Amino acid sequence: MNEPGALNNFITDAIRRDNEAGTYGGRIQTRFPPEPNGFLHIGHAKAIVVDFGTAEDFGGTCMLRLDDTNPETEEEAFVNSIVEDIEWLGYEPSEVRHASDYFEALHDWAVQLIEKGLAYVDDQDGETISATRGSFNTPGIESPFRNRSVAENLDLFERMRAGEFPDGSRVLRAKIDMAHENMQLRDPVMYRIRNIAHHRTGETWSIYPTYDWAHGQSDAIEGVTHSICTLEFESHRPLYDWFLEQLEIPSPPRQYEFARLELTHTVTSKRRLAKLVADGVVDGWDDPRMPTIRGLRRRGYPAEAIRAFCREVGTTRTNSRKAIEELESYVRRKLNATAQRRMAVTRPLKLTLLDWPTGPDGDPLVEWFEVVNNPENPADGTRLVPFTGELWIEQDDFREVPPPKYFRLSPGREVRLRGSYLVTARDVVKDEAGNIVEVRCSFDPESRGGTPADGRKVKSTMHWVSAPHALDATVALYDRLFTAEAPGERTGEALDDLNPASRELLTDAKVEPALADAAPGEVVQFERLGYFAADDHTPLLFHRTVGLRDEWASIQKRG
Ligand code: ATP
Ligand code: MG
Repeated sequence: MNEPGALNNFITDAIRRDNEAGTYGGRIQTRFPPEPNGFLHIGHAKAIVVDFGTAEDFGGTCMLRLDDTNPETEEEAFVNSIVEDIEWLGYEPSEVRHASDYFEALHDWAVQLIEKGLAYVDDQDGETISATRGSFNTPGIESPFRNRSVAENLDLFERMRAGEFPDGSRVLRAKIDMAHENMQLRDPVMYRIRNIAHHRTGETWSIYPTYDWAHGQSDAIEGVTHSICTLEFESHRPLYDWFLEQLEIPSPPRQYEFARLELTHTVTSKRRLAKLVADGVVDGWDDPRMPTIRGLRRRGYPAEAIRAFCREVGTTRTNSRKAIEELESYVRRKLNATAQRRMAVTRPLKLTLLDWPTGPDGDPLVEWFEVVNNPENPADGTRLVPFTGELWIEQDDFREVPPPKYFRLSPGREVRLRGSYLVTARDVVKDEAGNIVEVRCSFDPESRGGTPADGRKVKSTMHWVSAPHALDATVALYDRLFTAEAPGERTGEALDDLNPASRELLTDAKVEPALADAAPGEVVQFERLGYFAADDHTPLLFHRTVGLRDEWASIQKRG
């Protein structure tokens, strides 16, 4: 699957240079290396598009590597969800591997470094190790265990592996330089003791590799050529290169870093997203307000729109927060082309027609109007919509006393009911509390199909649903999950900026009968209201995907 407009950025520039120089014999291999400790979010979608998309553009391959080096936080359930989400986004890994597949190889390489005098067992505890790393301005302090003999290091390391020592009592560290200007190279930890079972390797290991030790070596084992990650790993690159060099890996992979994708009004941190779920702020990882792939999917965001957004917003080395309206604009454009149009009334008000005729069976007449499913796509055909003298319209489409510039229905005013008839409001029925519960209108029988015989103009066209045919539905409207553009900027805590009114459930909606057939996940346009995704229908439930107005266009105009 190749999107129009190939990726073009500093990574693809580097790949073209490598191809010209024959660095990897024209071979291009990338990988996507998530930690299976949560569900994927829109930021991961960006990484997936860069990793898989770049490989695709150059005829290369991309593996999925589950970076399962932290047995405490990882679960098999997350592995399955990651595989599914990647597939839904439209990519297929050339292979699915786990960092744990390499635990044996990583161990053997660690032994090699010990034998070369480049790694040692340190008996200091974690606190002491961090306290002696020094700072940007001051060098670190060498560990009293730094100059142990190779034999002693080999012995201790094997006993660490065998589970002889308690958690945290020792680590294996690379022996590089405690005064190095890059703190990452001040004898980084390669292994820590964790006497805990792993979701794949069980009780086999009592030591687990750190990210820094596992990552570059896993890339090398897989034959990765271009290892793409996010900017926070930039300072780790010299360490990545150092390990590969000491292990004398031929044609070593190279690491490239790009800026993380952040969006306004939301967060892309698994930890924060997990908190929203745990605190019950949202209904789960697939709540349509969540920026997770699952949430966006349930909300009705097409995979193609997410991919196009991730490709086209650019891949750079400068951190910036993209406007969520820009992503929505990709979604809206895609849906405008693909979504079938339907009529639904979210806050119903009864409209009855005076003098509506009786049909041949003696009951009020039912007329069936043929309407186009999608004006953008004639192949979607037409459908029949029932019309009767008893209809639902939006409460917002009637005002007893119209404010200035209000052109919808009001007493004495004529409007078009989409595709059916022109109607004029004559009077209203109120309940005891004085609320309007019904609008009575006359209709022009000469305007069948919505076009009056004399060609007179009306200012407003409104949607409607025939009351006897309407289906009851719930419609969920969504607002931003966080009120602030950059959640947490004010107080340091993103959750302080939660929007208390991010969801409004309208449980009285009335929708046209054709919507009973909307498949779960299908997105339709409710005329005049926006795009809505069907949930599984017990009972009928629709999530508003996006509204109709292109807010991104107005933001750009404002500059
Ligand atoms: P989180 O902070 O949400 O836990 P992470 O970086 O720890 O994210 P990983 O599972 O380790 O999550 O990420 C897998 C890959 O996805 C990494 O290469 C990481 O750089 C990339 N990634 C994660 N978040 C983003 C983001 N917001 N934008 C772009 N890439 C991202
Ligand atoms: Mg991580």
